[in-house]
Amino acid sequence: MTTEESSRTSGRRVPTPVDSLDGLLRSAFGHEAFRPLQAEVCRAVTQGRDVLLVMPTGAGKSLCYQLPGLARAGTTLVISPLIALMEDQVSALQDHGIAAERIHSGRDQLASRAVCRDYLDGNLDFLFIAPERLAVPGFPEMLAKRPPVLIAVDEAHCISHWGHDFRPDYRMLSERLPMLRPAPVIALTATATPLVQRDIVEQLAIPEAKLFIHGFRRTNIAVEVVEAKPSARGAVVRRVLEDAGRRPAIVYSPTRKETEALAAELNGTFPAAAYHAGMTSTARDRAQRAFQDGGVEVIVATIAFGMGIDKPDIRTVIHTGMPGTLEGYYQEIGRAGRDGDPARAILLYSWADRRTHEFFLGRDYPEPSVLAKVYGALSERARPAEELCAELGLDDEVFTTALEKLWIHRGALVDPEENATRGRPDWRVPYEAQLAHRQEQIERMTAFASGRGCRMLHLVRHFGDQHDSGEACETCDQCAPNKCLVNSFRKPEGTEIEVLAAALDLLRERDGLTSGQLHRQTAEGDELERKTFELLLDGLVRDGLVEVLADSFEKGGRTIQFQRVWLTRRGRLAGRNDVDGVLVVKEVAAPPRKRRARAKKAATPVAKHQVPLDIAESALFEKLREWRLEEARRRRIPAFRILGDRTLAAICRARPVDEEELLDVAGIGPAKASSFGRKILAVVAAESNNDDRPK
Ligand code: ADP
Ligand code: MG
Repeated sequence: MTTEESSRTSGRRVPTPVDSLDGLLRSAFGHEAFRPLQAEVCRAVTQGRDVLLVMPTGAGKSLCYQLPGLARAGTTLVISPLIALMEDQVSALQDHGIAAERIHSGRDQLASRAVCRDYLDGNLDFLFIAPERLAVPGFPEMLAKRPPVLIAVDEAHCISHWGHDFRPDYRMLSERLPMLRPAPVIALTATATPLVQRDIVEQLAIPEAKLFIHGFRRTNIAVEVVEAKPSARGAVVRRVLEDAGRRPAIVYSPTRKETEALAAELNGTFPAAAYHAGMTSTARDRAQRAFQDGGVEVIVATIAFGMGIDKPDIRTVIHTGMPGTLEGYYQEIGRAGRDGDPARAILLYSWADRRTHEFFLGRDYPEPSVLAKVYGALSERARPAEELCAELGLDDEVFTTALEKLWIHRGALVDPEENATRGRPDWRVPYEAQLAHRQEQIERMTAFASGRGCRMLHLVRHFGDQHDSGEACETCDQCAPNKCLVNSFRKPEGTEIEVLAAALDLLRERDGLTSGQLHRQTAEGDELERKTFELLLDGLVRDGLVEVLADSFEKGGRTIQFQRVWLTRRGRLAGRNDVDGVLVVKEVAAPPRKRRARAKKAATPVAKHQVPLDIAESALFEKLREWRLEEARRRRIPAFRILGDRTLAAICRARPVDEEELLDVAGIGPAKASSFGRKILAVVAAESNNDDRPK
C-alpha cells in the first residue's frame, strides 16, 4: 500500500471507546457479532491489559488483536513465524481497506525500506514482522522511535521449549520487547498446556497478563480409542473408511513407510494418497491439493501433514499408532468436522506403542549420567570429539548425541571441527527438566489412551479450559459404547460375574482399594488374568458403577502413579443383575495372515545392524565429511549439527541422484533437503563420476 493510500485511512485515527467495539466489528470487518470470548478479549486489550489467549485453530484469534489495534488508533506490531501466514493476514486486512504491511526475508530491500518509512510516518495500522527481524541491528531501535500501540505475538507457543514447535528466534522477544513497551502485549496460540502457558507469560515478561483459555470442547467429534495390535490396524482402517459417509478422511501413521504401504493398500478401494516429509515438495503439494479438491478422499500421512490445510468436511481422522503428545493428537483430530457436522476420531494403539516412544526417547535423550561422563572428560584444552569418544569407550551415536545435548545446554563448547572444551557446569538442571518433560508427555498420552472416563473431558482439562461446562460428551467410546464404530462389547460370563460382584462387595467394605489389590483379592484364585480383570473394571466404569482415580506416591525421589477404585452412588446400590449387564470390550481381531511373504516389514524401532561401508562408499563418506566441515565453519556450529554420521553413511549407501531419492534417506527431511540438498547431490555426483564401478 502506498503512503498516499494509507493516509486516507489515517483520517479515522481516533481511539474507539470500549463500549463501541461492536460498531467497529461491523464497520471495519463486516462481522455481525462476536464469537465466544472475542468481546471480552477485545475489551481487555483495548483497555491496555496484557493478555494470553489460547483458543483452537479457526476460533477467530486474529480478530482479538486486530480490532483492539484499530480501536487504540496507532500501529500494531504483529510478530508472526511464517511468511505465508503473514502474507495471508496482510492481504486480508488490506482487503478491508486497512493499512497493513509486512517486512520479511522474502521481500526486497526497497520495499522494506518504504514500509519502514510508512511506519515512522505513522501511516500503518499493522506492521507484520518475523521474530528474527528483531535481531537485525538497528531494527528494534527504529521501531522504538515510534512505539506501537499494541504488540501481538502470534503462535506464541513457539517461544517455549515445552511447546511442540519451539523456535529459537522467538527467544529474542524477551530481550527486545521491553524497548517497544509500554504497549500492551497479546500472545495468541492454539496449543498451550498450562505449563506452556506459564512459560509464555514468563518469557514475554507479562506476569499480569489476563489468561483467556477457551473453546477446546469439540461437540461434533466422537472420539473412540481402540486397543489393537499393529497387525490388526490396517484392516480396521479399511473397514471404517469403506463407508463413503466416513470420507474424506485423514489417516495418521507413525512412519513414512507405513503411510506409503497403507495408501497403496487402500487405493484399490477408494482414492488414497500418502503424504510425508520424505516426499519432494512438488509431490507433497500435489497430494495436498488433490485431497483439498476431493480427487483424493483419504490421505495417509505422517504428522508432517496438516499445517495450512483448510478442508471443512473431513469426516474421520484415524491414528494407526499412538502419537507422541496429547497436544499433537488434539491438533490432529481437530482437523475433523470443521463444518460442524458429526465427525469421528479413532485412535488405534497398544502398549507396544508406548515402548516405541520410549525407545526413541532413550535414543534421543541419553541418561544424564552419560552426559556427566562426557562432561567429566572435557577440560579447558580443546580435544577432538573422536578422541574423547574412544577414551570413554562409548558408542559413536550415543557419544555424539550426549555431546550435542551438552552443547545445547552449554555444558560443552564445540567448534566446527568438533573439538570440544568444557562449558558451564549448570547444564544438568535444564537437561533433566527437558528429559522429564518428554517422559511426561508420553505418560500423559498413554494415560489418555488407556484412561477411563469421557475422552473429550480429558482433552479439555488437559488444556486447562476455563469456561468449560465440565460435562461428559455423551458421544465418545466411554460415554456411548453402543455408538462405537470399531470397539464391540460382550457381557461378562461365568466366573467373571462372580469376580465383579465380589469386587463391588469388597469396595463396600473398603472403598478406594487399588486395582491391583482388588484383582488379588477377588480374581487371582480364579486364574483371571490382570489384563482381563482390567477390562472388566473398564466395564464397571463405563456403566457408572465405579470411578477410577489416579493417585501417586513418592519413592526414592520418583513419583509412582497408580489407580484407586471408588464406588459411585449407583455402585453402592448395585445388585447382581447390574453386574450381568456390564459391557466388556472385545479384543480387535487381526485378519488371518496372508500366505505370501509380506512386503517389506514396517520400520522397526531397533536400529538395523548396519554393514560397514565398502571402499567406494567410504571414499564418498570422506568427501561428504569435507563438505560438512566447510558448511559447519561457515555457520560456526559443530559439524554434527549439519548432519550426523549415521545420515552421511545412509547417503553413501543410497547414492541419491535427485531430490526425491535424497528425501528417501533416513534423517533427511524437507528442511535439510532445502538447505543442503543441492550441495549433497553435487558431492555424490562428483564422487560417482570418479568411481568406475558398474552402475
Ligand atoms: P485462528 O487464528 O484462531 O485460527 P482466525 O483468526 O484465522 O482463527 O479466524 C478464522 C476465521 O474466522 C476467519 O476467516 C475469520 O474471518 C473468521 N472470523 C473471526 N471472527 C469472526 C466473527 N466474529 N464473525 C464471523 N467470522 C469471524
Ligand atoms: Mg491464527
